[in-house]
Amino acid sequence: MEQLVRTFFNTYAHQPDGIWAAPGRVNLIGEHTDYNDGFVLPFALPHRTMVAAARTDEQRWTVHSTTTGETVTFGPPSLDERVPGWAAYVAAVVWALRDAGYTVPGALMALSSDVPQGAGLSSSAALECAVLTALNDLGELDIPVHERPSIAQRAENVYVGMPCGIMDQSASVLCRDGHALFMDCADLTSEQIPLDLTAAGLAILVIDTRAPHRLVDGEYAARRAACEKAAKLLRLPSLRHATLSDLVRVGDELLRRRARHAITENQRVLDTIALLGDGKPEEIGPLMTASHASLRDDFEVTVPELDTAVEAALAAGAHGARMTGGGFGGCVIALVPASATDHVTAAVEHAFAAAGFGPPATFIAVPSPGAARIA
Ligand code: ADP
Ligand code: MG
Repeated sequence: MEQLVRTFFNTYAHQPDGIWAAPGRVNLIGEHTDYNDGFVLPFALPHRTMVAAARTDEQRWTVHSTTTGETVTFGPPSLDERVPGWAAYVAAVVWALRDAGYTVPGALMALSSDVPQGAGLSSSAALECAVLTALNDLGELDIPVHERPSIAQRAENVYVGMPCGIMDQSASVLCRDGHALFMDCADLTSEQIPLDLTAAGLAILVIDTRAPHRLVDGEYAARRAACEKAAKLLRLPSLRHATLSDLVRVGDELLRRRARHAITENQRVLDTIALLGDGKPEEIGPLMTASHASLRDDFEVTVPELDTAVEAALAAGAHGARMTGGGFGGCVIALVPASATDHVTAAVEHAFAAAGFGPPATFIAVPSPGAARIA
Protein backbone atom coordinates (compact mmCIF):
# COMPACT_ATOMS: atom_id res chain seq x y z
CA MET A 1 0.00 0.00 0.00
CA GLU A 2 2.81 2.43 0.91
CA GLN A 3 4.52 1.71 -2.37
CA LEU A 4 1.30 2.38 -4.27
CA VAL A 5 0.85 5.72 -2.50
CA ARG A 6 4.45 6.58 -3.43
CA THR A 7 3.79 5.66 -7.04
CA PHE A 8 0.62 7.74 -7.02
CA PHE A 9 2.52 10.73 -5.66
CA ASN A 10 5.39 10.31 -8.13
CA THR A 11 2.92 10.11 -11.02
CA TYR A 12 0.54 12.92 -10.08
CA ALA A 13 2.41 15.08 -7.50
CA HIS A 14 -0.71 14.70 -5.39
CA GLN A 15 -1.94 12.52 -2.50
CA PRO A 16 -4.71 9.99 -3.22
CA ASP A 17 -8.07 10.43 -1.49
CA GLY A 18 -8.05 6.72 -0.60
CA ILE A 19 -7.15 3.19 -1.61
CA TRP A 20 -9.59 0.53 -2.74
CA ALA A 21 -9.03 -3.17 -3.37
CA ALA A 22 -10.86 -6.02 -5.06
CA PRO A 23 -9.79 -9.66 -5.18
CA GLY A 24 -9.31 -12.36 -7.76
CA ARG A 25 -11.07 -15.65 -7.16
CA VAL A 26 -11.05 -19.39 -7.58
CA ASN A 27 -14.23 -21.27 -8.30
CA LEU A 28 -14.68 -24.31 -6.05
CA ILE A 29 -17.22 -25.83 -8.44
CA GLY A 30 -19.81 -24.75 -11.01
CA GLU A 31 -17.83 -23.98 -14.18
CA HIS A 32 -19.35 -22.56 -17.38
CA THR A 33 -22.69 -22.54 -15.57
CA ASP A 34 -23.08 -18.81 -14.90
CA TYR A 35 -24.12 -17.90 -18.44
CA ASN A 36 -26.55 -20.84 -18.36
CA ASP A 37 -28.47 -19.32 -15.42
CA GLY A 38 -26.89 -22.00 -13.21
CA PHE A 39 -25.08 -22.31 -9.89
CA VAL A 40 -21.53 -21.29 -8.98
CA LEU A 41 -19.46 -21.51 -5.80
CA PRO A 42 -16.41 -19.21 -5.97
CA PHE A 43 -14.37 -17.75 -3.14
CA ALA A 44 -12.16 -14.67 -3.16
CA LEU A 45 -8.37 -14.96 -3.05
CA PRO A 46 -6.07 -12.90 -0.85
CA HIS A 47 -4.56 -11.76 -4.18
CA ARG A 48 -6.09 -8.45 -5.11
CA THR A 49 -5.90 -5.35 -7.26
CA MET A 50 -5.43 -2.10 -5.37
CA VAL A 51 -6.39 1.30 -6.75
CA ALA A 52 -5.20 4.54 -5.20
CA ALA A 53 -7.46 7.31 -6.47
CA ALA A 54 -8.18 11.03 -6.18
CA ARG A 55 -11.25 12.83 -7.43
CA THR A 56 -10.86 15.65 -9.96
CA ASP A 57 -13.28 18.26 -11.28
CA GLU A 58 -12.83 17.45 -14.96
CA GLN A 59 -14.51 14.69 -16.97
CA ARG A 60 -11.15 12.99 -17.54
CA TRP A 61 -9.72 9.78 -16.14
CA THR A 62 -6.02 9.04 -15.86
CA VAL A 63 -4.76 5.64 -14.77
CA HIS A 64 -1.28 4.33 -14.11
CA SER A 65 -0.61 0.59 -13.83
CA THR A 66 2.48 -0.49 -11.91
CA THR A 67 2.16 -3.79 -13.79
CA THR A 68 2.64 -2.25 -17.23
CA GLY A 69 4.39 0.96 -16.13
CA GLU A 70 2.07 2.92 -18.43
CA THR A 71 -0.16 5.92 -17.76
CA VAL A 72 -3.27 6.35 -19.91
CA THR A 73 -5.69 9.29 -20.05
CA PHE A 74 -9.15 9.31 -21.60
CA GLY A 75 -12.25 11.51 -21.72
CA PRO A 76 -15.86 10.31 -21.46
CA PRO A 77 -15.64 6.80 -23.00
CA SER A 78 -17.72 5.89 -26.04
CA LEU A 79 -18.20 2.62 -27.91
CA ASP A 80 -17.26 4.32 -31.17
CA GLU A 81 -13.69 5.07 -30.17
CA ARG A 82 -12.51 2.64 -27.51
CA VAL A 83 -9.45 3.00 -25.32
CA PRO A 84 -7.04 0.25 -26.44
CA GLY A 85 -5.03 -2.20 -24.31
CA TRP A 86 -5.32 -2.86 -20.60
CA ALA A 87 -6.77 0.62 -19.82
CA ALA A 88 -9.88 -0.55 -21.74
CA TYR A 89 -10.94 -2.33 -18.54
CA VAL A 90 -10.85 0.98 -16.67
CA ALA A 91 -12.58 2.95 -19.43
CA ALA A 92 -15.14 0.14 -19.60
CA VAL A 93 -16.15 0.67 -15.98
CA VAL A 94 -16.48 4.43 -16.48
CA TRP A 95 -18.54 3.74 -19.63
CA ALA A 96 -20.83 1.22 -17.89
CA LEU A 97 -21.41 3.49 -14.89
CA ARG A 98 -22.26 6.45 -17.11
CA ASP A 99 -24.46 4.23 -19.29
CA ALA A 100 -26.32 3.14 -16.14
CA GLY A 101 -27.05 6.80 -15.45
CA TYR A 102 -24.44 7.57 -12.80
CA THR A 103 -22.56 10.87 -12.73
CA VAL A 104 -19.02 9.54 -12.58
CA PRO A 105 -16.40 11.90 -11.16
CA GLY A 106 -13.14 12.40 -13.04
CA ALA A 107 -10.24 10.71 -11.27
CA LEU A 108 -6.51 10.14 -11.09
CA MET A 109 -5.77 6.48 -10.40
CA ALA A 110 -2.75 4.27 -9.81
CA LEU A 111 -3.16 0.53 -9.60
CA SER A 112 -1.09 -2.44 -8.58
CA SER A 113 -2.03 -6.09 -8.43
CA ASP A 114 -0.75 -9.45 -7.28
CA VAL A 115 -3.50 -11.35 -9.11
CA PRO A 116 -1.74 -13.32 -11.86
CA GLN A 117 -2.98 -12.06 -15.23
CA GLY A 118 -4.58 -14.38 -17.75
CA ALA A 119 -4.32 -17.34 -15.34
CA GLY A 120 -8.04 -17.82 -14.90
CA LEU A 121 -7.97 -16.20 -11.44
CA SER A 122 -9.90 -13.22 -12.73
CA SER A 123 -7.49 -10.33 -12.70
CA SER A 124 -9.88 -8.58 -15.10
CA ALA A 125 -12.79 -8.61 -12.64
CA ALA A 126 -10.44 -7.61 -9.81
CA LEU A 127 -9.40 -4.57 -11.83
CA GLU A 128 -12.96 -3.67 -12.83
CA CYS A 129 -14.36 -4.07 -9.33
CA ALA A 130 -11.54 -2.14 -7.66
CA VAL A 131 -12.09 0.78 -10.07
CA LEU A 132 -15.87 0.57 -9.71
CA THR A 133 -15.70 0.60 -5.91
CA ALA A 134 -13.27 3.54 -5.95
CA LEU A 135 -15.44 5.60 -8.34
CA ASN A 136 -18.56 4.76 -6.33
CA ASP A 137 -17.01 6.13 -3.16
CA LEU A 138 -15.26 9.11 -4.76
CA GLY A 139 -18.50 10.19 -6.44
CA GLU A 140 -20.78 9.16 -3.54
CA LEU A 141 -22.77 7.25 -6.15
CA ASP A 142 -24.39 4.91 -3.58
CA ILE A 143 -24.64 2.05 -6.08
CA PRO A 144 -26.43 -0.81 -4.31
CA VAL A 145 -23.83 -3.53 -3.69
CA HIS A 146 -25.92 -6.18 -5.43
CA GLU A 147 -26.08 -4.10 -8.63
CA ARG A 148 -22.32 -3.65 -8.88
CA PRO A 149 -21.39 -7.05 -10.37
CA SER A 150 -23.82 -6.58 -13.28
CA ILE A 151 -22.38 -3.14 -14.08
CA ALA A 152 -18.82 -4.52 -14.06
CA GLN A 153 -19.90 -7.52 -16.17
CA ARG A 154 -21.58 -5.20 -18.68
CA ALA A 155 -18.34 -3.19 -18.84
CA GLU A 156 -16.43 -6.33 -19.82
CA ASN A 157 -19.15 -7.72 -22.14
CA VAL A 158 -20.00 -4.58 -24.08
CA TYR A 159 -16.96 -2.30 -23.88
CA VAL A 160 -14.10 -4.84 -23.70
CA GLY A 161 -16.00 -7.35 -25.83
CA MET A 162 -15.48 -10.46 -23.68
CA PRO A 163 -18.79 -12.36 -23.29
CA CYS A 164 -18.06 -13.48 -19.69
CA GLY A 165 -20.81 -14.54 -17.27
CA ILE A 166 -21.59 -12.90 -13.95
CA MET A 167 -19.46 -15.10 -11.66
CA ASP A 168 -16.12 -13.29 -11.59
CA GLN A 169 -17.50 -9.84 -10.83
CA SER A 170 -19.94 -11.26 -8.26
CA ALA A 171 -17.13 -13.06 -6.47
CA SER A 172 -14.92 -9.99 -6.47
CA VAL A 173 -17.67 -7.76 -5.04
CA LEU A 174 -19.70 -10.07 -2.78
CA CYS A 175 -17.31 -12.64 -1.29
CA ARG A 176 -16.59 -12.59 2.43
CA ASP A 177 -13.62 -13.68 4.49
CA GLY A 178 -13.83 -17.39 5.39
CA HIS A 179 -16.76 -18.05 3.06
CA ALA A 180 -17.54 -19.27 -0.42
CA LEU A 181 -20.31 -17.55 -2.38
CA PHE A 182 -23.13 -19.86 -3.47
CA MET A 183 -24.87 -17.99 -6.23
CA ASP A 184 -27.89 -18.71 -8.34
CA CYS A 185 -27.11 -16.94 -11.60
CA ALA A 186 -30.77 -17.09 -12.70
CA ASP A 187 -31.91 -14.48 -10.19
CA LEU A 188 -28.50 -13.38 -8.82
CA THR A 189 -29.43 -14.36 -5.27
CA SER A 190 -26.51 -15.60 -3.22
CA GLU A 191 -25.70 -17.20 0.08
CA GLN A 192 -22.46 -17.08 2.10
CA ILE A 193 -21.22 -20.63 2.75
CA PRO A 194 -18.73 -20.98 5.64
CA LEU A 195 -15.58 -22.64 4.34
CA ASP A 196 -13.14 -23.36 7.14
CA LEU A 197 -10.91 -25.90 5.47
CA THR A 198 -8.09 -25.46 7.98
CA ALA A 199 -10.32 -26.66 10.81
CA ALA A 200 -11.04 -29.78 8.75
CA GLY A 201 -7.30 -30.40 8.18
CA LEU A 202 -7.69 -29.56 4.50
CA ALA A 203 -6.29 -27.03 2.05
CA ILE A 204 -7.08 -25.86 -1.45
CA LEU A 205 -3.87 -25.98 -3.44
CA VAL A 206 -3.92 -23.74 -6.51
CA ILE A 207 -1.72 -24.95 -9.35
CA ASP A 208 -1.13 -22.27 -11.98
CA THR A 209 -0.10 -24.32 -15.00
CA ARG A 210 1.25 -21.15 -16.66
CA ALA A 211 0.06 -22.71 -19.90
CA PRO A 212 -0.44 -19.91 -22.39
CA HIS A 213 -4.14 -19.18 -22.87
CA ARG A 214 -5.14 -20.61 -26.21
CA LEU A 215 -8.08 -19.48 -28.33
CA VAL A 216 -9.77 -18.22 -25.17
CA ASP A 217 -12.17 -15.58 -26.44
CA GLY A 218 -13.34 -17.42 -29.56
CA GLU A 219 -13.73 -20.76 -27.84
CA TYR A 220 -15.49 -19.21 -24.84
CA ALA A 221 -17.98 -17.52 -27.14
CA ALA A 222 -18.43 -20.79 -29.03
CA ARG A 223 -19.27 -22.69 -25.82
CA ARG A 224 -21.71 -20.03 -24.84
CA ALA A 225 -23.36 -20.13 -28.25
CA ALA A 226 -23.59 -23.95 -28.14
CA CYS A 227 -25.37 -23.82 -24.78
CA GLU A 228 -27.80 -21.20 -26.05
CA LYS A 229 -28.48 -23.29 -29.15
CA ALA A 230 -29.16 -26.41 -27.07
CA ALA A 231 -31.55 -24.51 -24.82
CA LYS A 232 -33.36 -23.10 -27.84
CA LEU A 233 -33.67 -26.58 -29.36
CA LEU A 234 -35.31 -27.71 -26.13
CA ARG A 235 -37.52 -24.60 -26.17
CA LEU A 236 -36.16 -23.59 -22.77
CA PRO A 237 -35.03 -20.09 -21.71
CA SER A 238 -31.69 -21.58 -20.57
CA LEU A 239 -30.04 -24.91 -19.77
CA ARG A 240 -30.82 -24.25 -16.12
CA HIS A 241 -34.28 -25.65 -16.84
CA ALA A 242 -33.03 -28.77 -18.67
CA THR A 243 -32.71 -32.23 -17.14
CA LEU A 244 -30.71 -35.25 -18.28
CA SER A 245 -33.89 -36.82 -19.67
CA ASP A 246 -34.19 -33.88 -22.09
CA LEU A 247 -30.91 -34.81 -23.78
CA VAL A 248 -32.45 -37.43 -26.07
CA ARG A 249 -34.16 -34.53 -27.80
CA VAL A 250 -30.83 -32.92 -28.70
CA GLY A 251 -29.96 -34.68 -31.94
CA ASP A 252 -26.53 -33.13 -32.44
CA GLU A 253 -23.93 -35.14 -30.53
CA LEU A 254 -21.67 -32.17 -29.80
CA LEU A 255 -24.51 -29.97 -28.54
CA ARG A 256 -25.72 -32.88 -26.42
CA ARG A 257 -22.37 -33.14 -24.66
CA ARG A 258 -22.16 -29.39 -24.11
CA ALA A 259 -25.64 -29.41 -22.57
CA ARG A 260 -24.85 -32.47 -20.47
CA HIS A 261 -21.96 -30.62 -18.87
CA ALA A 262 -24.15 -27.68 -17.87
CA ILE A 263 -26.85 -29.97 -16.46
CA THR A 264 -24.54 -32.29 -14.50
CA GLU A 265 -22.37 -29.42 -13.26
CA ASN A 266 -25.35 -27.65 -11.69
CA GLN A 267 -26.19 -30.84 -9.79
CA ARG A 268 -22.58 -31.15 -8.61
CA VAL A 269 -22.76 -27.65 -7.13
CA LEU A 270 -25.92 -28.55 -5.22
CA ASP A 271 -24.32 -31.80 -4.02
CA THR A 272 -21.25 -29.85 -2.89
CA ILE A 273 -23.40 -27.41 -0.91
CA ALA A 274 -25.18 -30.34 0.75
CA LEU A 275 -21.90 -32.00 1.77
CA LEU A 276 -20.44 -28.74 3.11
CA GLY A 277 -23.66 -28.21 5.08
CA ASP A 278 -23.29 -31.71 6.54
CA GLY A 279 -19.75 -30.89 7.67
CA LYS A 280 -18.12 -33.31 5.21
CA PRO A 281 -15.77 -31.07 3.19
CA GLU A 282 -13.33 -33.86 2.25
CA GLU A 283 -16.20 -35.66 0.52
CA ILE A 284 -16.56 -32.93 -2.10
CA GLY A 285 -13.32 -34.19 -3.69
CA PRO A 286 -14.99 -36.70 -6.04
CA LEU A 287 -17.44 -34.02 -7.20
CA MET A 288 -14.52 -31.74 -8.09
CA THR A 289 -12.86 -34.56 -10.02
CA ALA A 290 -16.12 -35.37 -11.83
CA SER A 291 -16.43 -31.69 -12.72
CA HIS A 292 -13.00 -31.81 -14.32
CA ALA A 293 -13.85 -34.94 -16.31
CA SER A 294 -17.01 -33.25 -17.59
CA LEU A 295 -15.09 -30.11 -18.58
CA ARG A 296 -12.49 -32.29 -20.32
CA ASP A 297 -14.76 -34.77 -22.11
CA ASP A 298 -18.14 -33.06 -22.59
CA PHE A 299 -17.24 -29.38 -22.64
CA GLU A 300 -13.72 -29.74 -24.04
CA VAL A 301 -12.15 -26.70 -22.41
CA THR A 302 -9.12 -28.35 -20.80
CA VAL A 303 -5.57 -28.57 -22.18
CA PRO A 304 -2.90 -31.22 -21.46
CA GLU A 305 -1.33 -29.09 -18.71
CA LEU A 306 -4.64 -28.93 -16.80
CA ASP A 307 -5.29 -32.66 -17.19
CA THR A 308 -1.74 -33.51 -16.13
CA ALA A 309 -2.01 -31.34 -12.99
CA VAL A 310 -5.30 -32.98 -12.01
CA GLU A 311 -4.03 -36.52 -12.59
CA ALA A 312 -0.77 -35.92 -10.72
CA ALA A 313 -2.54 -34.30 -7.76
CA LEU A 314 -5.01 -37.17 -7.48
CA ALA A 315 -2.26 -39.78 -7.75
CA ALA A 316 -0.37 -38.01 -4.94
CA GLY A 317 -3.34 -38.16 -2.57
CA ALA A 318 -5.59 -35.17 -3.33
CA HIS A 319 -9.25 -35.81 -2.39
CA GLY A 320 -10.27 -34.17 -5.66
CA ALA A 321 -8.98 -31.78 -8.31
CA ARG A 322 -10.35 -29.74 -11.19
CA MET A 323 -9.56 -26.89 -13.50
CA THR A 324 -10.96 -23.57 -12.29
CA GLY A 325 -11.93 -20.59 -14.44
CA GLY A 326 -12.73 -20.64 -18.13
CA GLY A 327 -10.13 -23.23 -19.14
CA PHE A 328 -7.81 -23.42 -22.19
CA GLY A 329 -4.89 -22.92 -19.80
CA GLY A 330 -4.93 -21.33 -16.37
CA CYS A 331 -5.25 -23.03 -13.00
CA VAL A 332 -6.20 -26.26 -11.28
CA ILE A 333 -7.43 -26.44 -7.70
CA ALA A 334 -6.80 -29.55 -5.63
CA LEU A 335 -8.45 -30.39 -2.31
CA VAL A 336 -5.63 -31.88 -0.27
CA PRO A 337 -4.99 -32.98 3.32
CA ALA A 338 -3.15 -29.95 4.78
CA SER A 339 -0.25 -32.26 5.71
CA ALA A 340 0.13 -33.38 2.10
CA THR A 341 0.42 -30.03 0.30
CA ASP A 342 4.19 -30.25 -0.17
CA HIS A 343 3.97 -33.82 -1.38
CA VAL A 344 1.21 -33.01 -3.89
CA THR A 345 3.08 -29.90 -5.08
CA ALA A 346 6.24 -31.94 -5.66
CA ALA A 347 4.30 -34.62 -7.50
CA VAL A 348 2.72 -32.06 -9.86
CA GLU A 349 6.11 -30.40 -10.48
CA HIS A 350 7.59 -33.79 -11.26
CA ALA A 351 4.76 -34.67 -13.66
CA PHE A 352 5.16 -31.32 -15.45
CA ALA A 353 8.89 -31.83 -15.88
CA ALA A 354 8.31 -35.35 -17.16
CA ALA A 355 5.76 -34.08 -19.70
CA GLY A 356 8.13 -31.34 -20.88
CA PHE A 357 5.96 -28.51 -19.50
CA GLY A 358 7.46 -25.46 -17.78
CA PRO A 359 7.27 -25.42 -13.97
CA PRO A 360 3.85 -24.55 -12.48
CA ALA A 361 3.36 -21.96 -9.72
CA THR A 362 1.48 -23.10 -6.62
CA PHE A 363 -0.09 -21.51 -3.56
CA ILE A 364 -2.67 -22.28 -0.88
CA ALA A 365 -5.95 -20.42 -1.39
CA VAL A 366 -7.67 -19.02 1.71
CA PRO A 367 -11.21 -17.57 1.36
CA SER A 368 -10.73 -13.80 1.59
CA PRO A 369 -12.85 -10.62 1.63
CA GLY A 370 -14.45 -8.94 -1.39
CA ALA A 371 -14.02 -5.42 -2.74
CA ALA A 372 -13.67 -2.62 -0.18
CA ARG A 373 -11.99 0.65 0.66
CA ILE A 374 -8.82 -0.25 2.55
CA ALA A 375 -7.36 3.18 3.31
P1 ADP B 1 -7.96 -13.17 -16.13
O1 ADP B 1 -9.16 -12.39 -15.76
O2 ADP B 1 -8.20 -14.65 -16.08
O3 ADP B 1 -6.73 -12.80 -15.37
P2 ADP B 1 -8.35 -11.80 -18.62
O4 ADP B 1 -7.80 -12.02 -19.98
O5 ADP B 1 -9.82 -11.82 -18.44
O6 ADP B 1 -7.64 -12.87 -17.68
O7 ADP B 1 -7.84 -10.41 -18.05
C1 ADP B 1 -6.47 -10.10 -18.09
C2 ADP B 1 -6.30 -8.69 -18.63
O8 ADP B 1 -6.76 -7.74 -17.65
C3 ADP B 1 -4.85 -8.32 -18.87
O9 ADP B 1 -4.43 -8.74 -20.14
C4 ADP B 1 -4.90 -6.80 -18.76
O10 ADP B 1 -5.39 -6.22 -19.95
C5 ADP B 1 -5.95 -6.58 -17.69
N1 ADP B 1 -5.33 -6.40 -16.36
C6 ADP B 1 -5.55 -7.16 -15.26
N2 ADP B 1 -4.82 -6.71 -14.21
C7 ADP B 1 -4.11 -5.65 -14.66
C8 ADP B 1 -3.15 -4.75 -14.07
N3 ADP B 1 -2.76 -4.88 -12.80
N4 ADP B 1 -2.64 -3.77 -14.86
C9 ADP B 1 -3.02 -3.64 -16.14
N5 ADP B 1 -3.90 -4.45 -16.74
C10 ADP B 1 -4.45 -5.44 -16.02
MG1 MG C 1 -11.03 -12.31 -16.82
